[in-house]
Amino acid sequence: MPRSFALLLLVAVALGAVAADPAPKADELLTVQKGALPVIISAPHGGRKPIPEVPERVGKGVAKFATVLDGNTAELAERLAALLEQDLKAKPWLVVARFTRKHLDVNRPREHAYESEKAKPHYDAYHAALEEACKAVKKQHGRGILLDIHGQGEHPAAICRGTQNGKTVSLLVDREGWSAVRGKNSVLGRMELFGYKVLPAGDAPLNTKEEAAFAGGHIVSTYGSHTAFAVDAIQLEFGSHLRAKDKVEPLAKDLSEAVRAFYDAYLKDGK
Ligand SMILES: [Zn+2]
Repeated sequence: MPRSFALLLLVAVALGAVAADPAPKADELLTVQKGALPVIISAPHGGRKPIPEVPERVGKGVAKFATVLDGNTAELAERLAALLEQDLKAKPWLVVARFTRKHLDVNRPREHAYESEKAKPHYDAYHAALEEACKAVKKQHGRGILLDIHGQGEHPAAICRGTQNGKTVSLLVDREGWSAVRGKNSVLGRMELFGYKVLPAGDAPLNTKEEAAFAGGHIVSTYGSHTAFAVDAIQLEFGSHLRAKDKVEPLAKDLSEAVRAFYDAYLKDGK
């Protein structure tokens, strides 16, 4: 092969390698699945893709500014949804961010969520999907649960509960008492039965406060049952050890069984 041709070929291959990894399209930045179950799964901080033309946020003047990835929470949310569908023969609602938190944090009020107008449509899309899910669940079932999936590193072996100390699950607590939030048929109580450490523990005094940093952010505050949506919302903060790559599948399996126990006890016979 003539040398010039070989060189051309090399350039073509190199260009091909670049072209094979283009900037993600808008619809690749969000995963939305419409559901039939009164279960909504949200994962806002597990995305890794850049939003085209958006610079990294700097967070000037923003309280609780964070850009850290909640590693493997997008994968956990998707596996949870798939296992629930398999078990209950119907789909849960699913909203998963694929965009990096460095560019957009949808678990913050709009004014703290993004710094570039190019990120705005993705903020709107995430919240439009959650709002649609909550409205549909309320209309079809009269009640439901939203699980907002996160990761934390402060308590690596534990799951932290975030309900703003009961506020975002107020309808559930009014209807069923605290056992529906921390008893054996609650999502977190069942995880405790499976051997996971949960904070606050199910047998802690009832007035035990949730971990301040993980007590519930913008998503559970916006869609919890203290609002008009009538869906109980729990922020679940999984410790880093629980989210290691080889732990995601067993964690998703246990979590799907815990959600199933909650569904059987508290949601199945809804409207
Ligand atoms: Zn998070």
